[in-house]
Amino acid sequence: MKIRSNLILLLILPFLILHTQEKGLISITNLRANLEVLASDEFEGREAATRGDRLSQLFIISELKKSGVKPLPEYPDYRMPVELTLTKISDKSTFTLDMGVGEVKKVVRFGEEIVSWSKYRSDTVLNYSVIFAGYGLEVPEQGWNDYEGLDVRGKLVIIASGVPKALNPENDPAVEEEYSGAKLFTAYGKGAAGIIFTGDKSIEEEWSSLSKPAISLPSKASTRNPGRGVFLMKEEGLKKLLSGSPLSYAEYIQKKEAGEKLSAFVLGVSGTLDIMAKQEAGYTTNIIGYVEGSDPVLKEEFVALGAHYDHVGIDRGQVYNGADDDGSGIVAVLEAARALVSAKNIKRSVLVVLHGAEEKGLLGASYLSDNFGRMDKIIAQINIDMVGREHQDSIYSVGSDKISSELKAIVEEVNKKTVKFAFNYKFDEPDDPNRIYERSDHYHYARKGIPVVFFYDYMLEDYHKPTDDIEKINFEKIRKVSELMYHLSIRLANLDKRLTPDERPD
Ligand SMILES: [Zn+2]
Repeated sequence: MKIRSNLILLLILPFLILHTQEKGLISITNLRANLEVLASDEFEGREAATRGDRLSQLFIISELKKSGVKPLPEYPDYRMPVELTLTKISDKSTFTLDMGVGEVKKVVRFGEEIVSWSKYRSDTVLNYSVIFAGYGLEVPEQGWNDYEGLDVRGKLVIIASGVPKALNPENDPAVEEEYSGAKLFTAYGKGAAGIIFTGDKSIEEEWSSLSKPAISLPSKASTRNPGRGVFLMKEEGLKKLLSGSPLSYAEYIQKKEAGEKLSAFVLGVSGTLDIMAKQEAGYTTNIIGYVEGSDPVLKEEFVALGAHYDHVGIDRGQVYNGADDDGSGIVAVLEAARALVSAKNIKRSVLVVLHGAEEKGLLGASYLSDNFGRMDKIIAQINIDMVGREHQDSIYSVGSDKISSELKAIVEEVNKKTVKFAFNYKFDEPDDPNRIYERSDHYHYARKGIPVVFFYDYMLEDYHKPTDDIEKINFEKIRKVSELMYHLSIRLANLDKRLTPDERPD
């Protein structure tokens, strides 16, 4: 009996060892330890061109070094610097209302009482006559028209927040939203040259993000100003403007609270927007390293892994930790890369890229795709952005057959043999309105003809909210994604020949 049991043990021992190694391929301990750092308040929400951005870079680079991921000779410190242009409207900008001869001019200050929703990129002075247009609503089927008898063509229109009782007797938030959304297009349709929306509650959410500088790549930073300006003004600003007008601020408040009509009138003969926009240079970086392939020829080619390390920063004192977006992606890529360093006999090299400034419009990936000298050597890109939430056994797979259906077949085959996710292909449907294929870094690889696959959890609950925190992360899901990335990298790196693009009718 003894001998026999020993024999059995000897027979199964290699499998046991193999199995334990497989189990430990991607370490949940590492995933968690790294995310605890990256999604902590100390990293200040990792916004591009901030201190949190630079801290994230230092941490990620030190992790790559520790894992044995090497720097490319052209980026010896793992950094591919990305210059940025930060555009900000100066707090010295003003809106001045002149009510006529002998009247005191009223001055509303940018950054304090008014903020621009339109992107002004250079200094400009605009002068219009100013109309107060009540709620700015035209709803013929309800017999409501704030524009009755008004000609607002070429003028600046001030519009009150909210919806009158007559149009929303039940105080239904959906009705309120629908009417509020229509105000802009109604004013545009009437030919208004500029629109100022007032309110406190209604503009609170946009106020802070609009007060931050707009960030772009210098090559794409236009100095062209918008044709029509849209502005948001606090009630404090409106209070100033209404003093001495046909409608006092007290009456305005009282009528609004009662849900009554606010009659329109000409508020001032001349309103001057003196906008000072300044552009400054900023900086972020893509972080880039590689795991060298073993084939003397094929190692010049790459399978690229990607995630973005930036997030949206701090807003009104709250840190947006971005644990899922895209903290989950960063740690999954780092862990897959660490495992790949120890993997043997991978023919092609694996490029490890953590993109910067994704949240500002995929800027890091855009820069990389136009400036990395070896784009043509990348045979496929695997991108992950938000992979630690929602159901543990399913994930959205996006774009894998857009360029080469061979890639889709490989992704399915590798998945079936390894982590066995149920793939949801909803975002691959041609009429899907979400346009997910264009909304993360992989798009800039695809733009260059590189077959891509994008994995995404479609978490909406805490998306771009301060509640996207580590407590809500499912590390087993990240582990599975990281492991899929690992196996997929090996499979693609060992292909005899590159993926064939599908033939498509033009
Ligand atoms: Zn993201």
